[in-house]
Amino acid sequence: MASIKKEDIINCINYCQDNNIFDDLNKVYGSLPTGYCTSCGDCCMESVGINLVEFINIFNYLKDKKNLKKQSLEKIIDYYFLEYKKKSPCPFKDTDNRCLIYEVRPLNCRLFGHWKKEDYNKNLDNITKRNIEYKNMMKKEYNFEISDEVVNYRINFCENFIPNNDYISKSERMEIYDRLIILDSKIYSFYNIEFRDRGLVEYFIEYLLDNNTAYNIKIKISQNNELEERVLRRIKNITLSSI
Ligand code: SF4
Ligand code: SF4
Repeated sequence: MASIKKEDIINCINYCQDNNIFDDLNKVYGSLPTGYCTSCGDCCMESVGINLVEFINIFNYLKDKKNLKKQSLEKIIDYYFLEYKKKSPCPFKDTDNRCLIYEVRPLNCRLFGHWKKEDYNKNLDNITKRNIEYKNMMKKEYNFEISDEVVNYRINFCENFIPNNDYISKSERMEIYDRLIILDSKIYSFYNIEFRDRGLVEYFIEYLLDNNTAYNIKIKISQNNELEERVLRRIKNITLSSI
C-alpha cells in the first residue's frame, strides 16, 4: 500500500481549492525575485526538496494530463531506484532541457540562481561532505558502493544567471520558505499525511508505494545489478497500470 494515498491527495486538492491555498502559493511564487536565465537546464539535475503544498499543486496540474503523468512517473521510478548507481537529470526535464511542469515548478527551482555565490558554494561543499559520509554509512550498513559519479556530482553555481535586482541572502530565502511552511501546516492539520522532509521524486514514489518497501527494493537493486531490469519492469507494471 502506498504511503501517501490517492484519496488523501484528492482531498488535499479539494481543500486547497476551497481555501484558496493554491492562490496563496501562487502569490508566494509571484512575489519572488526574477532574473535572466538562458534556460540551458544544466541546473535541473536533482530531485529538489519541496513542500507538501507544492506536491499537491503539481499533482493537481498532472491529474488530467494522463500521458505526461505516466511518462513522468516512469522516469521518477528510474530516478529513484537507480539513484545510488547513476546520476540522472530531474525526471521532469525533457530532452530539449525544458521543464515539463514549468508552470508549477517548485520554489527551489525558482530560487536557483538567486543565491549569493558564497552561500551557494558553502552549501555545495556541505552536500558533497554529507554525500561522502552517506556513502561510507551505506557501505558499512548494506555492503554496496554508491557510485562516485553520484557522490561527487555538483550542480555548480550558475554564472550565466543574472538577477534583475540583487542576489538574495539566506535570511531572505528562509522568510520565503516559512511562507510555504505556513501553507503546509494548514494541510497537515486536516489530512493524515506523515510529516517528513521529501524531495520531488520521493513524494511521487510514496504516492506509488510504501516508502519502506520502496527503500528496501532500492537497496536490493543497488546490491545486485542483475535485478535492475526485471524489478523495475515489475514495479512499473504494478504501479502504473492504475494511475
Ligand atoms: S539558472 Fe543557470 S544553469 Fe539553470 S537554466 Fe538558467 S542559465 Fe541554465
Ligand atoms: S522541476 Fe523543472 S525546473 Fe525543477 S529541476 Fe525539474 S525540470 Fe528543472
